[in-house]
Amino acid sequence: MSNVASYLKRSFVAVAMASATVAVPSAFAETTIHHQQQTITIDYPASFDANERQLAYQWLQQISAALQTVHGEFPQDQFQVTLRESTRHGSTVPWGQVKRGEPDTVLLVINPSAGLQGLLADWTAFHEFSHLMLPYRGYGDIWLSEGLATYYQNIVQARAGLFDEQTMWQRLQAGFRRGENDQRWAHAKLEQVSDNLRETRQHMRVHWSGVLYWLQIDVALREQDHSLDLALKHLKDCCQGQQLSAWQIVRKLDRMYETTMFSTQFELFRNSYTLPDYRHVLSALGVEENLTFNNQAQQAAIRKSLLQSPR
Ligand SMILES: [Zn+2]
Repeated sequence: MSNVASYLKRSFVAVAMASATVAVPSAFAETTIHHQQQTITIDYPASFDANERQLAYQWLQQISAALQTVHGEFPQDQFQVTLRESTRHGSTVPWGQVKRGEPDTVLLVINPSAGLQGLLADWTAFHEFSHLMLPYRGYGDIWLSEGLATYYQNIVQARAGLFDEQTMWQRLQAGFRRGENDQRWAHAKLEQVSDNLRETRQHMRVHWSGVLYWLQIDVALREQDHSLDLALKHLKDCCQGQQLSAWQIVRKLDRMYETTMFSTQFELFRNSYTLPDYRHVLSALGVEENLTFNNQAQQAAIRKSLLQSPR
């Protein structure tokens, strides 16, 4: 049991023992998290008691605050979080999923016995919330959407201080290696492998090709004093609530930045037969193979800027 959970339990017992006339709240009634005009609505499982609802609420508050390190807002102005209780022991957040609709809903299956720190240490919620940053229809070229969510789950956790810069790059490098090792469908293009994931099972190649796409895009934007953070803000402002294909999203970004970079790279990646070369990307950023940092590298300043929220 975590410190927070044991604290909650202790204070619950202490209050109950202090006086029989002090009523212990039988329901924790908060079902919304607000930021300016934005609202997240929470649906708790019926099985949760008041303490578990409060714990889940605090956890979602912290996740949504961490998400604000991207561009200062929640990824969408209105969305719903549906929580379900896990019946499996040993896994903190065994399942998460985004259901596209009006509004979009994030389903998270959680184990409240993990406590606040245990829940925060799990990446699933960071990943699922990050999916909301793309106004994506939910099918076709899912590598683009999975790549964005996997990239930002790491960026957001690092910016929120849940792990340091070196751990972040260790996770990215390890992921690229796993993606590179998914070789069973090396005769097929990413587009086919991605669109037939149930058959191909090349999840690592699909996810990590997408992460590399967005990392390269982010670096290219930052070379021109822009950033993917702010591109996602513009995308939210123009298109949240829409259900666009991956191709429509990259074309929108092209038009926004008066470039063809997004679609040109998209074509390159979806036609790739293996995870494109990530080593030169990491090396230019000053991330060495042994995970030390070379601050003389050409793009070392860009590497450091990735951990900063936009000003
Ligand atoms: Zn995902």
